Amino acid sequence: MNSSFRLVTIKGIPVEINISWLLIFFLFSISLAQGYFPTAVEGLSPAAYWLAGVLTTLVVFASVLTHEFGHSLVALREGIPIKKITLFIFGGVAQMETEPKSAASEFKITAAGPLTSLLIALLAGAVYYLILPRGLLISQAVFIVAQINLIMAVFNLIPAFPLDGGRIFRAAAWFFSKNMLTATRVAVGLGSFIAFIGMAIGFMIIFFQGDLWGLWLIFIGWMIYQAGQSSYSQLVFKETFSGVKVSELMSTDLQTVSPDATLEELADHFLHHKFGAFPVVYGSTTHGLVSLQNMKAVPRDEWPEKRVSQVLTPLKEAMVLDPNTDAAEVMMKMAAQDVGRALVMDKGDLVGLLSRTDMMRFMQMHMVLGSD
Ligand SMILES: [Zn+2]
Repeated sequence: MNSSFRLVTIKGIPVEINISWLLIFFLFSISLAQGYFPTAVEGLSPAAYWLAGVLTTLVVFASVLTHEFGHSLVALREGIPIKKITLFIFGGVAQMETEPKSAASEFKITAAGPLTSLLIALLAGAVYYLILPRGLLISQAVFIVAQINLIMAVFNLIPAFPLDGGRIFRAAAWFFSKNMLTATRVAVGLGSFIAFIGMAIGFMIIFFQGDLWGLWLIFIGWMIYQAGQSSYSQLVFKETFSGVKVSELMSTDLQTVSPDATLEELADHFLHHKFGAFPVVYGSTTHGLVSLQNMKAVPRDEWPEKRVSQVLTPLKEAMVLDPNTDAAEVMMKMAAQDVGRALVMDKGDLVGLLSRTDMMRFMQMHMVLGSD
């Protein structure tokens, strides 16, 4: 889901469109142009239906964007910068740089979205019922806009975190428990439960009614479940590693190997010290990092002749960290680049080794002992 392109920047917030959005845009335009409009207003040219279909779809997506701006503008007022707004197949998402600082703040930011949708629905509904004559394409278009905004407000209020309803639920749980992590855990639990019920209903629709529409429900349920899980673990990450530096987590008990050692000697080294990798050092120069994986790539009968220098990951390709870097940031970077270990160097001197295992162990310890 990373293939997005930037559309425009409004009030300093970049608006991006994910390519999955193009599919829903297309499907929605077709169903309006070929199904809804020709049935609602008969006897017009296909071009007129297509024009109405595409324009209405654009207005619908402008409504989605307005919903996200509802969240974003309140977030900005609460002092939380917005990284970007992305439109994708299921709607939109406004990415906040940080989590809200209080339950009240979360409630305000979240409620602003469905409230915006509800306002648009009321406005469009009023225009449809009070102003426009029946039987025109534009009347039907306004009616669709009202309907979709109403659906959007109601759907988003389902208490399945990270949907808006789930966030409002979390804000309430946070307010009463005074603990954001606990509140998130409860909200994600409820959200997963609802997501699984949605998926179960989706399966039943497919098996008992033979209607593929159930797939949509399974898909949405799964997305909500995944999103809930990942936002919870991200939060645990941030809580655990906030204010922790690389130097506090790295192992300083350094076992190094020489670049001239043979792989045979390296194998003994691995068995003896039971580490997954060693910094390769000669004198005071660090050459890189050699891991079990580097070694596994070489056939066994070559081990007596091959040298560490021939298989190592050179310094310029290894991940090198400064001891003062923020651990949370490093953890994200290592996960994103799928790197298991990094060398920690201070002004060119090797001072430690940091592995993802070290960090996971710290996280487990932190969870068992509690954050206090
Ligand atoms: Zn929302």
